[in-house]
Amino acid sequence: ATKCSSSERWQLFDVANSMVSERRLKVTSALKTALDKGEFSLYMQPQVNLSTGKVHGAEGLLRWEHPELGQVPPDEFIPIAESSGMIYSVTEWVIEQGLHYQKQIVELYPNHILSLNISGKDLAKRELTVQLITLINEFNLNPRQIILEITESVTIGKEANLKEVVDDYRRIGIKVAIDDFGTGYSSLAYLSQLGFDELKIDKQFVMDIESSRTNQTICKATCDMAHSLGSKVVAEGIESLASYTRLQGFGCDFGQGYFISRPLGFDEYLVWLNKATRADDVKHHLIR
Ligand code: C2E
Ligand code: MG
Ligand code: MG
Ligand code: MG
Repeated sequence: ATKCSSSERWQLFDVANSMVSERRLKVTSALKTALDKGEFSLYMQPQVNLSTGKVHGAEGLLRWEHPELGQVPPDEFIPIAESSGMIYSVTEWVIEQGLHYQKQIVELYPNHILSLNISGKDLAKRELTVQLITLINEFNLNPRQIILEITESVTIGKEANLKEVVDDYRRIGIKVAIDDFGTGYSSLAYLSQLGFDELKIDKQFVMDIESSRTNQTICKATCDMAHSLGSKVVAEGIESLASYTRLQGFGCDFGQGYFISRPLGFDEYLVWLNKATRADDVKHHLIR
């Protein structure tokens, strides 16, 4: 192979960089019209109660299908929406759609729990609280069946008003979950004074739990600590029966992951619910 001179390397770097910013520009401009064009949908990923084997509820996950860009993953467009001032309208849409779905679901399954991801940028917005209360009342929902997921990184460095915001939601009855736990640097001591209802173990610790003793220790310790602080634990990224069973053994409360089900479109999710709620244990229902 021919050696690349330093200036050639910089040229390659520039090319790569300009491709990245070109993509970013495309995504940013496409994002501006995505809501109006109805390109978003809210998928539902089932969550199971690991101790009873029964359906617990679902996490709403945003999907964006653009005619030219195709499926753009939320890990790509959410940060762009956040930095370009568009996230609030996205969050509003997710809440509206999510609570609409929840209203239809609880008519059939009254105990169904819905979790929604909320950007840290929006959590403290007064309008968001108002929108939630308005819809909860209008749809006659139980706020205790609504969980707002905030990523662990959001909780760092904004100590001052974050606790008030979290307190406000919990006063209304809405629950708060710490998402992607283990990926940030917050201490459990700090998180516990913040007050939360649920800790979600990040999938990086769960996906390969069978081959990593370290991850087994992390998951077990997280379950024990969260429980002694009085909160529930959710494991995301359960991809096999072996990890399902192991987390069950750790006393992990709820689980979600490809082993149970991939995120599903709303109609598909209703079909899944219909089958899964009839099974005495979702785990057995899954083994084909
Ligand atoms: P998250 O909230 O931690 O969601 C879990 C992610 O793990 C989802 O990716 C889900 O599809 C994926 N997942 C679930 N089970 C498995 C599994 O068994 N194996 C593997 N490999 N992955 C699994 P997704 O849907 O691409 O979402 C990525 C992130 O984007 C979410 O992470 C969340 O932070 C963000 N996001 C998604 N929807 C929304 C939304 O409506 N609002 C906001 N603000 N953020 C969202
Ligand atoms: Mg989440
Ligand atoms: Mg997560
Ligand atoms: Mg995540």
